Amino acid sequence: MRDTVRAGAADRPGVYRMMSPGGEVIYVGKSKRVRSRLLSYFRGAYPEHKGARILREADRIAWDYTPSEFDALVQELRLIKQYRPRFNVALKRDAHNYAFIKVTRGPAPKLLVVRSAGSDDGGAYYGPFLGAMRVGEALRELNDALGLRDCALDTPVRFSDQVEIFTPPPRTPGCIRHEIHKCLGPCIGACSEHQYAGRVALARAFFEGTNDGPLASLTTEMQQASDRLEYERAARLRDKIQRLEMLREQFGRLRFAVETLSFLYTVSGYDGEDRVYVIRRGCVRAICASPRTPVEQDALHDLATSIFAEPGRTATSVPAHEVDELMLVSSWFRRHPHELHHARTWDLAANGN
Ligand code: SF4
Repeated sequence: MRDTVRAGAADRPGVYRMMSPGGEVIYVGKSKRVRSRLLSYFRGAYPEHKGARILREADRIAWDYTPSEFDALVQELRLIKQYRPRFNVALKRDAHNYAFIKVTRGPAPKLLVVRSAGSDDGGAYYGPFLGAMRVGEALRELNDALGLRDCALDTPVRFSDQVEIFTPPPRTPGCIRHEIHKCLGPCIGACSEHQYAGRVALARAFFEGTNDGPLASLTTEMQQASDRLEYERAARLRDKIQRLEMLREQFGRLRFAVETLSFLYTVSGYDGEDRVYVIRRGCVRAICASPRTPVEQDALHDLATSIFAEPGRTATSVPAHEVDELMLVSSWFRRHPHELHHARTWDLAANGN
């Protein structure tokens, strides 16, 4: 493999794949200088290092050049998603800075702070939010304020309105959160499915920053409790509403405006291979060679118009398959803010048909 690299690899940006004797892609990497990067594997002095372990299992290396480092990053991510190589661990870029909130699927969804969609495409993702640690703290408070569960995903759930075929055995909650009024208690049938879903809807509204409806319904609930002279309950609801208002502001501050990552990004490439990346909501929707003629200009114009004219989602939820690329693109521009000088927003009104 070293001879193959020495004989054929050039020092320019690209992505590479390491294959096992059976043809399985076991590792995907990228580099600004493919040749130097690949040769460095063969200098590995420490057999326990990851590079040495990959080489012990690989018997073939293949690479493709890319016009630029940015292109290599995008292609590397796409190859990792395609092959899921076992030596590639979850992407950890900017793990400390960006986070998503995942609302799991199932009858009693849970809210989780995640840094990548990984291989799991279930559930809804919101974000990204800035400051994974602060998001985690705010989310814990939100769970408590809304009474959402935070126990293991496989904790059995039973709602009060669930029809039981057999008499269920008496249950005790799996933790004390229900007793201290921090969880509605879907593990012991202490709430209906509708009640729990209402609280999840409120959480989603917070992450989207769009809707006050659920908070208004808590205010009505508080008023009704007060009218019924249930002052203790009314006071608990008042405290909850105050905390939630505070948290809504907090999530608003932490939310990263994904819409700002929508533009045409021109990157000067190796040996004149300049590219234009059509980026919408943080994902590369199309890549084309920088136009050099009026005909190519028109083609790019039509392409950009069709991409930006597609109906956008109003909510801040992000499809699972876009989470990692959004993370990658936002991380790229955070690390290289000067690159935004090469980004041109696409004004549909001015450029559209
Ligand atoms: S009270 Fe039950 S549902 Fe709530 S967090 Fe504890 S174990 Fe989970």
